[in-house]
Amino acid sequence: MPLSTKKKVATRADFRCEYCLLAERVSFYSFHIEHIRSMKHGGTNELNNLAYCCPGCNYYKGSDVGTFLHESENLILFFNPRKDSWDEHSELEDGAIHGKTDMGKATGKIFKFNEIERLIFRQQLAELNLYP
Ligand SMILES: [Zn+2]
Repeated sequence: MPLSTKKKVATRADFRCEYCLLAERVSFYSFHIEHIRSMKHGGTNELNNLAYCCPGCNYYKGSDVGTFLHESENLILFFNPRKDSWDEHSELEDGAIHGKTDMGKATGKIFKFNEIERLIFRQQLAELNLYP
């Protein structure tokens, strides 16, 4: 992937994870350019299929594109930062990220937004006005 593409994706996201809203400047690790629809599932390197993503979110997402909630057999696609509004699908409460819709819940479940270490880190950042 050309460096110019990486720079465009990072700048477009204001150097924040487009899923959990963590800022790269407060992270210990460099962020990734993530394929919203993985190459495995026919995704491309086009800008509209790329998102800026922290290592945590990228690790848990892997090449997945969605999941199932409850007992339902309906596949629910993950939040797509190129198409969907973060505020419409998720909300913040004391550092925790809660899904407001099935899409938000499916994304949070698989991306493990509220895994205890990640939650405590975001709460500490919020106290310092470094999150979101
Ligand atoms: Zn993230």
